[in-house]
Amino acid sequence: MLTKSIPVLLAVMLSVFGAMSCPNAYSATLSLTAVETKDLIFMREEEKVARDTYLTFYDVWDLATFSNIASAEQTHMDALLKLLNKYNLPDPAAGNAIGEFTNTDLQSLYNTLVAKGEISSLNALNVGGLIEEKDMIDIKRAISEAQKDDIISTYTNLMCGSRNHLRGFAKSIEALTGAPYVAQLLSQTEVNEIVQSPIEKCGKKEKVSSSGNACKGKC
Ligand code: MN
Ligand code: MN
Repeated sequence: MLTKSIPVLLAVMLSVFGAMSCPNAYSATLSLTAVETKDLIFMREEEKVARDTYLTFYDVWDLATFSNIASAEQTHMDALLKLLNKYNLPDPAAGNAIGEFTNTDLQSLYNTLVAKGEISSLNALNVGGLIEEKDMIDIKRAISEAQKDDIISTYTNLMCGSRNHLRGFAKSIEALTGAPYVAQLLSQTEVNEIVQSPIEKCGKKEKVSSSGNACKGKC
């Protein structure tokens, strides 16, 4: 009887142990470093700055480029919300209307940029360029600080989108002024490399693609 019950006892012990240890193992997998957490929360609102600024400029200037890029920023915001939910983090954008931000730095950035872009359509397009350059700088830093593959992959996709958006704004500015886009935060060399290279297709599959195609989804 005793020998027969040992496997049962072991199974019970394993299952109790499993029940105790699994949630811990699970939450360990889903826990982020402090900097990953901070960056994710920040990036969610920084993408909102882009979306809300472009929506506002579309209202003011009626340029299709602003509404097109605003939709892309919505997908970037959605991708970040998905990560916030996955890692049980609070959404800083929850309940905030267009132009409302929890992060006070981003609130004043938004206010400043919108005021500038309301003066002229050229200003608005240059604000677009500035936002994209800033996004690229911040995303690059966040990628360097991230460890989780899903987070890095999302940021990489956002970065690809930002390059396309910068190409779009630069093209509109050049059409309007006849002069090339002037870098605002990045070096002119970095900006030229982006602006003078073709539009990319951005998507999650880019990292596993071996075909040489950088992106397969939407940017
Ligand atoms: Mn974006
Ligand atoms: Mn963008």
